[in-house]
Formats: sequence, structure tokens, C-alpha cells
Amino acid sequence: MKQDRLIYLPLGGAGEIGMNAYVYGFGPDGKERLIVVDLGVTFPDMDTSPGVDLIMADIGWLEENADRIEAVFITHAHEDHIGALSHFWPKLKVPVYARRFTGRLAQLKMEEAGLPTDALRIVEPRPTVVEAGPFSVQFVPVSHSIPESSALVIDTPAGRIVHTGDFKLDGSPIVGEAFDPLMWHEIAKEGSGVKVLTCDSTNVFSPLPGRSEATLATPLAEFIAAQSGMVVATTFASNVARLKTLALAGKAAGRSVCLLGRAMKKMVSAAEETEVLLGFPGTVTPEQAVDIAREKLMLIVTGSQGERRAASAQLSRGKYLGLEMKDGDTFLFSSKTIPGNERGVIRIMNAYSEMGVEVVDDRGGLYHVSGHANRPDLEAVHDLLKPKILIPMHGEHRHLREHAKIGTGKGIASEVATNGTMLDLTGNSPEVVEYIGAGRTYLDGNVLIGAMDGVVRDRIRMALNGHVLVTVIVDEDNLPLGDAWVELGGLSQTGKTGASLSDRIEDELAEFLERANSKVIANDAKMDEAIRRIVRQVTMEEIGKKPEVTVVVSRLLAE
Ligand SMILES: [Zn+2]
Repeated sequence: MKQDRLIYLPLGGAGEIGMNAYVYGFGPDGKERLIVVDLGVTFPDMDTSPGVDLIMADIGWLEENADRIEAVFITHAHEDHIGALSHFWPKLKVPVYARRFTGRLAQLKMEEAGLPTDALRIVEPRPTVVEAGPFSVQFVPVSHSIPESSALVIDTPAGRIVHTGDFKLDGSPIVGEAFDPLMWHEIAKEGSGVKVLTCDSTNVFSPLPGRSEATLATPLAEFIAAQSGMVVATTFASNVARLKTLALAGKAAGRSVCLLGRAMKKMVSAAEETEVLLGFPGTVTPEQAVDIAREKLMLIVTGSQGERRAASAQLSRGKYLGLEMKDGDTFLFSSKTIPGNERGVIRIMNAYSEMGVEVVDDRGGLYHVSGHANRPDLEAVHDLLKPKILIPMHGEHRHLREHAKIGTGKGIASEVATNGTMLDLTGNSPEVVEYIGAGRTYLDGNVLIGAMDGVVRDRIRMALNGHVLVTVIVDEDNLPLGDAWVELGGLSQTGKTGASLSDRIEDELAEFLERANSKVIANDAKMDEAIRRIVRQVTMEEIGKKPEVTVVVSRLLAE
């Protein structure tokens, strides 16, 4: 009989920041019972994934082993942890466990996708235990930049795993639970202690201890009180604590507060319904805000990352819901620009600048703090939990590597395991046992496609090179019926000679068809190759480009 083993398999989030999806398994080799931690998304960009709506992990391996999955656990409601739930749940159809606020947002996602919500199970935090096959799982509150973020304490017959989720050490997070060192001390002491720590690595390169959300209240209140025009502030909609700090600072400065943006209202109401947000000051609607003097008004808006359709971008283009920024107003980014989003953010900053609006960013941390543990905080957690094994997660490769180095330096067996790397954690040090094909899945319109399926590669080629469509009609005797017909897409209509490019191509093709023998004309592949070559030759001469070419040969069949 094969020995039971404990395995770990990241499918997303290890080697990148985004689309988190981690698998743990326990049982005989190849028959382990499985749990999944988080099903998140990441966002596309114009360079690598133009036109794609969302990017998520490739869960092919999970689908193949769907009958072995006991449950999905969601640590918190950030999109990179929960965003793929409604896309993947129909393929997995297993119970989904989350705490109240996270569960409420999961419920909304499932409902929006027209899916049943009875698989969602709302769990109270530790000491409540969820039994899932060989796993006993507790949600342990941690502080982060969204309410009710949780680490998971996962007890298995092979020992205790602590999966941190996203966390920081914040003793006064304004909204949600503080980091509780006593509880973590208990977790480290119980039984035979912590065997495996799977740990957030996002801020491993930040050398100073992280700062508390509470440190922002005074600087923000002073800043807002000092402004004379309208104040507009933006942050992540899900950072409910920050929304509260900003709103209280606005109120303290004698301003009415108005929330703009669908995501922000959704987050605040979900937080109020689940009672994680208490004491949020009263707000006014945009209709009411229009009639309030601008020096008595503060807007809190979505779009801290420069998203084109969010409220911050709408206001940078002019009037939005009757409200408009003017010379003398102030726009505050109480946020950090995520790498990759700089262009969108700078576009908005410049648009405001042209309006005479003062744009202020986090000014070296005065108006924003991170939601992730910095290096000294990570080290404090290593020291507190004293794991035998450290598996860095939630980071790009450089983050994972640096974090593993810290672990090794402390004598903790540490391993960099990127997406698709299956580790055996049964022994005293992690062992790589298998590589699973772990690619990416794209939500493109309303279908899921594989990143390597060629769909987006074709789209990128057409976008970069332009497209030429050639149609030729051939009769029963393999003779061209009339001339070839050319249509251009995404290409200049005229080139070097000043003649119409499509006319030039059509002329060359007419000559070719006149010369071509019937054997060539009868053969689709030969026609395709010859026509493609002529089109590319002419376009290269005329406009210096080699476009994508589609050749359509329509053949009239003899009766
Ligand atoms: Zn997060």
C-alpha cells in the first residue's frame, strides 16, 4: 500500500501577483483528497492580452480531478482571490467556504452569473472548524486592506499548515480585526506546532516595518481641512477602512461626503449589511451634491488605478452626474499605483492638471499605507510561528526567491514553488514531485479560452500587421471568374506610388491569375501560398508592412 502524502500545488499567484489559486492534498499518491484556497483573477493589458476581459489560472488539472476536491476556501474578497469563483464553480461544483463579508460578495457574484448560491457556506472564525475530508480548517482573522481577511489554519494528519492569505501586522486597522499576536502564539503552540507556513511575499523588499491604517487619520484630516475648493479622493473601493477614514476626515472638515462609483457603493453596503462596517458617516447622493457649495463638499470616487470607465476618469473628462472639477479644487490619490497601471493614472493626473486642479498622491506614505506585511513583519511571523517549512507565495519570482532566502537563513527549509510545481510536504523538507501544466485562462467576451489557444496571438498579429482579405471565384473548368477582389483592414489605403493599395494588389493578382496554370488554380494550398506572397510583396513595396492575409477561393462546382 502506498503511503499517504501531503501535497501543495499553486496554480496561480506563485510567480506573479494576481490570480491566486492554491491546492493542498492529502492521501495516497495520485488519490489525495484536495482542497482549493482562493480562485482569483488578474487583469489583461494591451501588450499581451488585448481585448481580453479577465485572466485566471488554468484549472485543467483540477477539472480532471474534480471528484477528489472536498471544498474551496476563500480567504478574502479581493478580486485576485475571489474573482474567478463564478467562472470556475460550474466546473467544480463543490462547497465554498468564506466568512460573512467575503461570502456576501461571493453570493453577489454567483447571482450576477445566474448560478445557485446554496454551495456557499458562511463560516465563523476560529475556534470554528470546517471538516473537509482529511483537512480541518479554521479561518483566523488577519489585518489587510479589506475587511475580514483571513489566514487559514489547516490541520492534516501530516501536521499543521498555516496559509497566511494576504496580511499585514496592524494593531488598529480601523475596520475589521486587528492582528492578534496572542492568538497566533496559541496557534504556534498547539499540538506539535506549525509544520508548513505558506506565506504572502508581496512586500518582502520593503525594509521598514509596515504602518497602521490608524496613522493616516490625522494627516488626512489636516490635509482635507486645509483645502479651499472641492476635494475629491480616490482609493480602492474594497478598502473599506480607508473609505471610513476619508469620510470621517471630510466630515471633520465640515464637508458633506458623496460616494461615486458602483463598486464603492457595493462594498460599503456589503460591509454594512454584514456589520463589519460600523459608524460610517452619512453621505449625500450625487443629485444632492450638485446643490452643495464646493468648499463644503468631498467626493470619494472609484478609479485609483486610472480605469477608463471609473468615476475618477469620468471626472477628468468633464461633467459626471452633474458634478465637475474646477480650478482650485483638489484631487487626492489615497492609494498606490500598481505597476502596469501608471499610464492610465498619469493620463488622469494630466487631465486634472489642465483643469487647474491640484493633484496630490500618497506623498511618500502620508496618505496611504500598504495592506501587506513588510520584511521585518514577515520575519516576526516566521519567529512567532516557527514553521519547519516555509513556502513563499503571493509574489513575483523575485519576491518568492528573496522570501525563501530569508527562511533558509533562519534554518527553515524553504522552497520556491511557482505555478504548476507540486511539492510533497510530508517529510521535514519540501520535495518537488511533479510539474503540472499551469497556464492561464482568458475570459474573452463571455467564453473561457486558453492563453495558448492562438486566439489572442492571431488578434495581436492582426492588430500589429493589419489584414488583407482576398476573394477569388473559380469556375467549373478551374478558370478565374472575373478579377480577384481585395479588402484592407487596419492598413493605409495608399502607399509610396500614391495609387490605391487595393487597386495595386488587385492588378498584380489579375496578372498572376492570367498566367497561372489550371493545376495551380485547382489547388487550394497553392493558390493560398501564391496569393499571400503577392499580397505581401505589394504591401511591402507600397507601405513597408507584411499584413496578415486571408485568401478565400470560391469554387463553382459542375452539376
Ligand atoms: Zn488582498
